[in-house]
Amino acid sequence: CAAFPAPRKQAASPARLFAPQNERQPVMEELLERLLAECLPYTAQGRLADYIPELAKADPSMLGVYVIGNDGKESWAGDCRQPFTIQSVIKPILLLQALLDNGVEAVQRRVGVDAINPRDQSPYSGHINPMANMGAIVICSLIHGGSYAERFQRLLELTRLLAGDERIGIDEDVYHSEKSHGSKNRALAYLLKSYGLLDDDVEEVLDCYFRACSIRVDCRALAHIGAVLSNRGRLPNSSRQIFPAELARYVNAILTTCGMYDGSGEFAIRVGVPAKSGVGGGIMAVVPTRMGIGIYGPALDRKGNSVAGIQLLERLSRALYLSIF
Ligand code: GLN
Repeated sequence: CAAFPAPRKQAASPARLFAPQNERQPVMEELLERLLAECLPYTAQGRLADYIPELAKADPSMLGVYVIGNDGKESWAGDCRQPFTIQSVIKPILLLQALLDNGVEAVQRRVGVDAINPRDQSPYSGHINPMANMGAIVICSLIHGGSYAERFQRLLELTRLLAGDERIGIDEDVYHSEKSHGSKNRALAYLLKSYGLLDDDVEEVLDCYFRACSIRVDCRALAHIGAVLSNRGRLPNSSRQIFPAELARYVNAILTTCGMYDGSGEFAIRVGVPAKSGVGGGIMAVVPTRMGIGIYGPALDRKGNSVAGIQLLERLSRALYLSIF
């Protein structure tokens, strides 16, 4: 695909909005290459997401990692330029957009912050978390815009800005697959509607959610998003503030407690940094004040997280003392 050139070890293309310094980081790259080789066998332990046919077409043996420091320096290894869909890693960006548009108080009137098993979430318990599907669907309805097309466009622009790549768009095949196999999300959305938590037309809100999940990224994009969150809302190696530091703290806290589905507690112990995973195989990790990390490994564990990706993050965390705990 023209928008995503093949893996390479050279300066990023000048088409990039925020061209990195891209000074080579030999020690870091050596470490990433070694950890990647150690973790590759774990890809065989996972399974591809298959709730929609499109995701089951991925190559389960892939593994990639990309690191962007707050100083703008970049390092990578493996299948880091392979495009994949962002899926649930869009949830923190949806939350950011809603917080920017409405403020914390208004958002919290609809979605909470407490960790809860996504399967136990329900409109009647009052526990709707923005890192679970129900919460993210509600969040789509909170984004400002004259139409849902405009709301999605605003979300896409924010994603491009955070990811440092203006060429990011959606994967049409995954989008259509999400939309035509979306019974579970439809059920959740109609339940929200019946409890008065969704004011707008359910299909319009869902269309925005399906498009959001289908945004196509690569490891660098996820690392860049993580770097902005780690840099308290500022672009790496820049003075440009994208969102207030207070919101970075808010989102990072939710990622720490709820970012890795039911595996969030174990991830906190093994890796110890705010992170969000998606069923497309991506993990976006935030090392506050230090770096953002993007992972791609579509073979998932039983909790829906990249098996080899978590192994890699665990080893990286140990090697560089990344845990915040
Ligand atoms: N598109 C997926 C869904 O809505 C996103 C969820 C995920 O990545 N866990 O089911």
